[in-house]
Amino acid sequence: MSKDSISIVVSAYNEEGNVEALYKELKKVLKETNVKDYEIIYVDDGSSDKTHAKCQALQKKDKHVKIVHLKRNFGHEIAMTAGMDYALSEAVIFMDADLQHPPLYIKQMVEAWQEGYEIVLTRRVDNVDTSAFYKFCAKSFYKILNLLSDTKIPEKTPDFRLIDRKYIDFLKNFNEQDRLFRGLLSWIMPNDKVKVLDFVAPQRHAGESKYNFRKSLQLAINSIIQFSVKPLRFSTYLGIVTAFVAGLLGLYVIGEHFILHKPTPGYATIMVTMIFLGAVQLIVLGIIGEYIGKIHMEVKKRPLYMADYETQEEVKKVVRNGSEKDI
Ligand code: UDP
Ligand code: MG
Repeated sequence: MSKDSISIVVSAYNEEGNVEALYKELKKVLKETNVKDYEIIYVDDGSSDKTHAKCQALQKKDKHVKIVHLKRNFGHEIAMTAGMDYALSEAVIFMDADLQHPPLYIKQMVEAWQEGYEIVLTRRVDNVDTSAFYKFCAKSFYKILNLLSDTKIPEKTPDFRLIDRKYIDFLKNFNEQDRLFRGLLSWIMPNDKVKVLDFVAPQRHAGESKYNFRKSLQLAINSIIQFSVKPLRFSTYLGIVTAFVAGLLGLYVIGEHFILHKPTPGYATIMVTMIFLGAVQLIVLGIIGEYIGKIHMEVKKRPLYMADYETQEEVKKVVRNGSEKDI
């Protein structure tokens, strides 16, 4: 392989204020690399603002700009998947549209790849846009996830990375609806030829973050369920522990009655026990329900997305149907 072509996949949802600024930065840094060919794929994730029009304007004057126009908002993870599906080069760089993934690192990424690394990851040593509370939540999430999951996902690894074609072709075999890209990547991560670059994420260039607390929590719960069945085992343990506690309480009540000859306290103990057991049952049912819900969604095997793939020459309707991809 000659290692002289790269695809840059940019996921953009309502990023009208960032599309052009990012394009300019990308052009600048691409000139500094020695790649012969490149494409900038904007994945418009069903934006309701002028994101698509701005991408089209860029495409009119530059054939390197390709657009995957998702027909509605499918979410960041699917947006990255769609971009990956239509990337043609020998390596793919994924990044956000808001300039929080500084394009200047692309030069180092490409150099590392050309030196022989097959995956170049980034580590966000700080994010000036994030509150202390959010950072604490993110840290706790990774702790819990890695405690529960067999597929370890390192903390502070944003979706800014370079992946060699070899691994892109692997990644295309994952067809789950509910996907966490960095988890899938951890699943295929080799032990060598991986480089990590540190960077500080600046503030968003324009617009607002698309991840609120609720969305982030949803992503966190989904990620745990996708990569681990340990919560199910946890519910079994919870049942065992509860039965044990109930047994101890039973012994205590019997002892109180026959040995201490004290009258057994009345409804208060019964209420506490009932509420406790009710809560445990609800927790366990909830955990099982989460998994059944996921099975329910996955067995339908609905297409992953529906989009238009737009180049300067043509516009194609595309859909990703399970393992088959219709280009
Ligand atoms: N994004 C997307 N689809 C979504 C939500 C976000 O494609 O449904 C994109 C968004 O446009 C941005 C990237 O994913 O380029 C990261 O989102 P954001 O900057 O809002 O996240 P944050 O940096 O605040 O974690
Ligand atoms: Mg951002």
